Amino acid sequence: MTPLTLPPGISKDTFAAYVAAARGVVGNDNVEVITGPDQFTKDDYMDPAKEHDMYPVLDKDYFVSSAVVAPRNVAEVQALMRISNEFKVPVWPFSIGRNIGYGGPAPRVPGSVGIDMGRHMNRVLEVNEADAYCLLEPGVTFQSLYDHLVSKGLEDKLWIDVPDLGGGSVIGNTIERGVGYSPYGDHFMMHCGMEIVLPNGELVRTGMGALPEPGATGAPDQQSPNRCWQLFNYGFGPYHDGIFSQSNYGIVTKMGMWLMPNPGGYQAYSITFEREDDLPAIVETIRQLRITMVIQNAATIRSLLMDAAVLGDKESFCPGVTRPLNDDELDGIQTKLGLGRWIFYGALYGPEPIRNALWGAIHGSFSQIPGAKFHLHEDGKPTPGVLDIRAKTMRGIPTYDELKWVDWVPNGAHFFFSPIAEVRGEAATRQFQITKRRLVEAGFDVIVDFIIGMREMHHIVCVVYDRTKPEERARALAVVRTLIDECAANGWGEYRTHLALMDQIASTYSFNDHALMKLSESIKDTLDPNGILAPGKNGVWPATYDKEKWRLQAGSQVTRQSIPKHPGPSPRL
Ligand code: ADP
Repeated sequence: MTPLTLPPGISKDTFAAYVAAARGVVGNDNVEVITGPDQFTKDDYMDPAKEHDMYPVLDKDYFVSSAVVAPRNVAEVQALMRISNEFKVPVWPFSIGRNIGYGGPAPRVPGSVGIDMGRHMNRVLEVNEADAYCLLEPGVTFQSLYDHLVSKGLEDKLWIDVPDLGGGSVIGNTIERGVGYSPYGDHFMMHCGMEIVLPNGELVRTGMGALPEPGATGAPDQQSPNRCWQLFNYGFGPYHDGIFSQSNYGIVTKMGMWLMPNPGGYQAYSITFEREDDLPAIVETIRQLRITMVIQNAATIRSLLMDAAVLGDKESFCPGVTRPLNDDELDGIQTKLGLGRWIFYGALYGPEPIRNALWGAIHGSFSQIPGAKFHLHEDGKPTPGVLDIRAKTMRGIPTYDELKWVDWVPNGAHFFFSPIAEVRGEAATRQFQITKRRLVEAGFDVIVDFIIGMREMHHIVCVVYDRTKPEERARALAVVRTLIDECAANGWGEYRTHLALMDQIASTYSFNDHALMKLSESIKDTLDPNGILAPGKNGVWPATYDKEKWRLQAGSQVTRQSIPKHPGPSPRL
């Protein structure tokens, strides 16, 4: 069977031989060849596609896999790496494929073979109650981890941290450096210990996992995890975990995550602010409270339209208006929903006296901003806006309600632009004004939020567009390309991105003649000399690919006909 898109440089016969070898490893039922767009039937988050980007910014048939292969265990992942090297076929691992807004399960190099890590390898291997951690396989989602704790009666004792939507893989989200909203919101910071299959098929455990656990006979037991693997991240010698995040250096087959012991009490709240110009005062107030941990969680400032889009679509608020909403229309929505131009969501964790003390400080500080209104979430009582949803999210209960904001426009899809900034009122204002001007010029509504970490802000700009309209998709891509350059000129870079933008963003991290990229490429070529694992991910191209031909930038041709025919040779060889 010939796929719609062959892997680059691979003939039909070689592809057929590779597929036969892959079937020999994982069994017939676990290999699907993607022969045409008629297989792109899934476009729903709840039942996601595995072979293409459900929220395409380019044509739907551009970023697609030639086949999807689902290994059943670690040994099969190792065997797949070996045959991929033998046939020089590029592969693209994913865990669930719900990385929406960033490309989903789709590969950067069209025609790569997707490795579906989550279909079979989806067990919670351990939950340790005393030390509050778990050990997971790639197919464990935030929802299934939560359900597992419920089934063990542990959901009150051990809390997880969830992102806005509960269906993603814990491993996928964590290695992409995704965030959640409880005190454990920085997922990568809270992981502990990884197991990885390297591109040559070798199996590695990081940190304390490299130390064998004695078996029953006293001899080292190669299977059982070391008892300190999920307790101490660093082990001995160079600390490697970071290079397996947002990278193409290995396939993660297991990962430990710390869980939050029940803090002894919880109270979610929101604060609404009347004016767009309140942003700098809000940000300055948060910095002081967050850096001293008076605000204990990764809290968020959301723009009015982000909340409005969860509660209705554009047509329901402003019938017939297709251009970006103006100030009068925003005022109308603000009054109708009883929200602010900005809404801050936070939570208090701990026994009541601690919560009361923290609330006193938080209330006192934000009260300095004229017009600030405070809302405490009380279970069972209706609260304005989306506080009911955020109360679950900040408590680590998975939800799906926020999928709704993608329906702001008909056939809605979203595309994220996510620059990092310093937690400064002036920076937030400048970044917001740049973004707002460009989005409005390009005809999009301004739907943004700021997530405040320990010392930085992730500014998440959601470009919501009609995925069925090629012109609108092209406009969405173009406006984000402009924003990337404009923000880089101001010293701001993105923390994560869609497949289509990886090259451009990687090139903005250019200190000392792109020294960081040279380091990344040297590691790539050492670990993966055939360049078979996720070539091009995050802008890191192996030497077997001619980067100049493969990179996507403004003005690049992006149709199936424009895909380079052969991988290399790269000028680096
Ligand atoms: P989600 O967890 O949101 O469903 P995906 O499964 O779509 O996320 O994974 C997002 C991206 O993370 C993938 O495209 C891939 O680059 C990387 N990734 C996911 N899982 C693995 C894994 N087990 N090993 C290596 N990379 C992975």
